[in-house]
Amino acid sequence: MSNILAKTCYNTLTRKFNRFSLYPSVNPVQAVYGKIHSESFDLSRQIHSSPTMSNSILNGNLWETDPELFGIIKKEKERQRAGLEMIASENFTSLPVLQCLSTCLHNKYSEGMPNQRYYGGNEYIDEIEILAQQRSLEAYRLKSEDWGVNVQPYSGSPANFAVYTGVVEPHGRIMGLDLPDGGHLTHGFFTATKKISATSIFFESMPYKVDAKTGYIDYDKLAETARLFKPRLIIAGISCYSRCLDYKRFRQIADENGAYLMADMAHISGLVAAGVIPSPFDYCDIVTTTTHKTLRGPRAGVIFFRKGVRSVKANGTKVMYDFENKINQSVFPGLQGGPHNHAIAAIATAMKQATTPEFVEYQKQVVKNAQRLCEGLKSRGYDIATGGTEVHLILVDMRSAGLTGAPAERILELCSIACNKNTVPGDKSALHPSGIRLGTPALTTRGLKEADIDRVVDFIDKSLKIAQQVTKVSGPKLADFNRTIEESAEFKKQIHDLREQIESYSKTFPLPGFEAY
Ligand SMILES: *Cc1c(COP(=O)(O)O)cnc(C)c1O
Repeated sequence: MSNILAKTCYNTLTRKFNRFSLYPSVNPVQAVYGKIHSESFDLSRQIHSSPTMSNSILNGNLWETDPELFGIIKKEKERQRAGLEMIASENFTSLPVLQCLSTCLHNKYSEGMPNQRYYGGNEYIDEIEILAQQRSLEAYRLKSEDWGVNVQPYSGSPANFAVYTGVVEPHGRIMGLDLPDGGHLTHGFFTATKKISATSIFFESMPYKVDAKTGYIDYDKLAETARLFKPRLIIAGISCYSRCLDYKRFRQIADENGAYLMADMAHISGLVAAGVIPSPFDYCDIVTTTTHKTLRGPRAGVIFFRKGVRSVKANGTKVMYDFENKINQSVFPGLQGGPHNHAIAAIATAMKQATTPEFVEYQKQVVKNAQRLCEGLKSRGYDIATGGTEVHLILVDMRSAGLTGAPAERILELCSIACNKNTVPGDKSALHPSGIRLGTPALTTRGLKEADIDRVVDFIDKSLKIAQQVTKVSGPKLADFNRTIEESAEFKKQIHDLREQIESYSKTFPLPGFEAY
């Protein structure tokens, strides 16, 4: 019976998905609708003898019950299609992931762990969460004797905070890469006047940095600071850094100081799963990740932690890892309530995808595209932090082009290329970043290859050239920059024409799940 129910539920959703298409084309809505409607609804009535839903807010389609909101969603969908998405943390997830996200799983409360819930009715939810756990381990080639996993964190930030809460005492010491140097807020960001991240409020944070000249992480300085600061936890993780991390070196520094080593592979977890860059699992005690960046799954977080023997004392006594209860209990009941079961199902299917040859090809292409992007921009005279990339992103230093991050980001946005301004090595102020971060995961999902990236380089270069002209008139302030464009018919025309070209180019590449969602 459960199979039939699942099918019914799925079919009903399929009917709705198809109606989401922006294009009324010859899409098989009518045919599918008719078929599914007659088969599955009759079936469902036979099973439940359930009366037809007549309440319109409960069972009406979104476009009927809330056309205002639906209209905005449609515009966002068109924006995603028409633009070149180069924000390094973004991706276009797959149809199966989108389908999981809008299932009935969303309705269920399941606080606790599989087979130990605080609510009844969780037999299938347990099956799904166990599947998500197993597949998460498989995606990273981990054995369940050595590694445990928690798939309940709502996203990357809560995952990180759960680790700190679980394994570091209040006001214990944490070291992470500084935010302006490419680290993440949750790694403990604070400024001279304010503790910004909760990590720096509830724990004592001491950042490490990149070398201002080379742009590479300054491991020697990290080692020196760690000897003084004696952290409980060192974080190896990046949001904007185009090189592979030296996990072995991190491990040595952690061991020297009796610290745990945690990798936050949020940005690179797809590359790691595909084996195209070194794996943090070889050296780390704990690994956290988001599942929606290069991994291309749902918006969610996952924590991996070591199990079993941690070390053996001189007298032969084994010291065991004790992360399992600490981390699981930190996630729930420490920080979270009911798990998002629709997201956990989506993690399960994303992790399955991550073991396929297509996924490995995709990740290889992501890196090739980032390298092509890097070479293309360099050949047009732009400076790239560290001079290259081994991952999915690059950091372009705009100073030698006579620009800063804000007008560069703005002109690209006006031309329908999405990216973000970012501090570059040596920047004095986090408020006035000198660069932009560009990533290839989303474009690669849409099918762009190296030759297409050459076109993208050309579009970026043309956009930035307009920004240079504008800046000559406006000076460096963003407000002046915007006003200068606003007041100039000539600049507006140049931008408009380029934007048209970019959008018609972008629209030639498909998006996963576009027809359905
Ligand atoms: C994106 C990111 C996170 C946070 O993820 P959210 O899902 O946005 O909370 C954490 N760590 C790193 C390194 C990230 O890049």
